Amino acid sequence: MALKINKCDILIIGGGPAGLEAAYHAAKAAPGLKISIVEENFLLGGQLIKQTHSFFGSKNQFAGKRGFEIAELLMDRVRKNPDIDIHLQTSALGCYEGGIVACESMAEGCLKEFQPGRTIVAAGARENMAPFPGNDLPGVFGAGAAQTLMNVYGVLPGRKVVMLGAGNIGLIVSYQLMQAGAEVLAIIEGLPMIGGYHVHAAKIRRMGVPILASHTVVRATGKSTLEEVEVAPIDKNWKIAGESTVFQADTLCLAVGLTPGTELLEQSGCRMAFVKELGGHVAWHNDRMETSRPEILVAGDVSGIEEASTAMLEGKIAGLAAAEGLSGLDLSDEISRAQQELAGIRKGPYGEKACLGKDKLCKLSVR
Ligand SMILES: Cc1cc2nc3c(=O)[nH]c(=O)nc-3n(C[C@H](O)[C@H](O)[C@H](O)COP(=O)(O)OP(=O)(O)OC[C@H]3O[C@@H](n4cnc5c(N)ncnc54)[C@H](O)[C@@H]3O)c2cc1C
Repeated sequence: MALKINKCDILIIGGGPAGLEAAYHAAKAAPGLKISIVEENFLLGGQLIKQTHSFFGSKNQFAGKRGFEIAELLMDRVRKNPDIDIHLQTSALGCYEGGIVACESMAEGCLKEFQPGRTIVAAGARENMAPFPGNDLPGVFGAGAAQTLMNVYGVLPGRKVVMLGAGNIGLIVSYQLMQAGAEVLAIIEGLPMIGGYHVHAAKIRRMGVPILASHTVVRATGKSTLEEVEVAPIDKNWKIAGESTVFQADTLCLAVGLTPGTELLEQSGCRMAFVKELGGHVAWHNDRMETSRPEILVAGDVSGIEEASTAMLEGKIAGLAAAEGLSGLDLSDEISRAQQELAGIRKGPYGEKACLGKDKLCKLSVR
């Protein structure tokens, strides 16, 4: 396979809201720096391209607009900047000594080597699996994967759906499945309460879908594809506490959380730490989004699971910090304003966990 060497000052891995904002703000603050984005998908926008609902969050980060509309806005301003070049269908494979990043371009059928001064890893997160017999049957999906099938490819994953998880993702994807013509038989939630916004839960309930709190999926069965989902009540120790119910379903969606996609950071030797409030292992980073390796920064869900508004602001901070380090400009006022805005967003009820996690991380030593 041919190898192409690409020159840039800042390389951004991942073209979701964090990566796009990192590119935009770095280029705006330090004109002339060359910025490259590598994105393994054939579209920019990350999770936003499949979100058809109006976003919660902060007005400055376009709350009230639908996810895919926010993606369009972010893409548009990145595309308009001649200092930013975009490599779609290009996966970052590894970050090596001397800051070298190796990528594979599916679009061009070649390997690409970048030697940037700074790399910002904004690779997002992956969906969690739930352990129960039959979880590998065809018909069992991550809720985000089902949403991609529906909203990006126009394919309905199934007709009769059970959703596991009543956080925002479980509630929103259930609603969108119904909009697309599927029947949602029930939403199952292990905790005694609903984790997502009550406005989403109320909408689902009005459509006649039961939300069974303190319940779990015991097993999924079927000859070659999913046919039945067995569900049972559980006590506070997650032990079965009553008789099970069986749903005849061809689809079971798992909306049981996300884990930061940190493989590149681990491989590159960044100091890692397990912080449960951030979703698992994350790279140690400071409030400028700098990791223990001075040339590598992080932003968005890869640095701790949160939401699009915080991903955009972390992207902005990482972009500015990288630009400052390379250009010699003093961007400290702008960085500090973005940090304050981020702290403001995290003051809301849903930011509490992230605040706790980021505080824990800051208290750990860098080595
Ligand atoms: C169903 C659902 C509903 C949501 N609703 C809301 C909401 O209402 N409001 C809100 O604020 N947030 C919401 N979110 C959360 C929000 O979408 C995410 O927090 C946000 O997209 C995270 O941004 P990111 O840039 O960190 O990651 P992502 O959006 O996941 O982007 C990461 C990008 O990196 C790319 N990538 C990964 N690895 C590589 C690699 N090795 N090489 C190249 N590219 C790579 C991926 O393809 C992806 O495009 C929702 C999420 C879901 C799933």
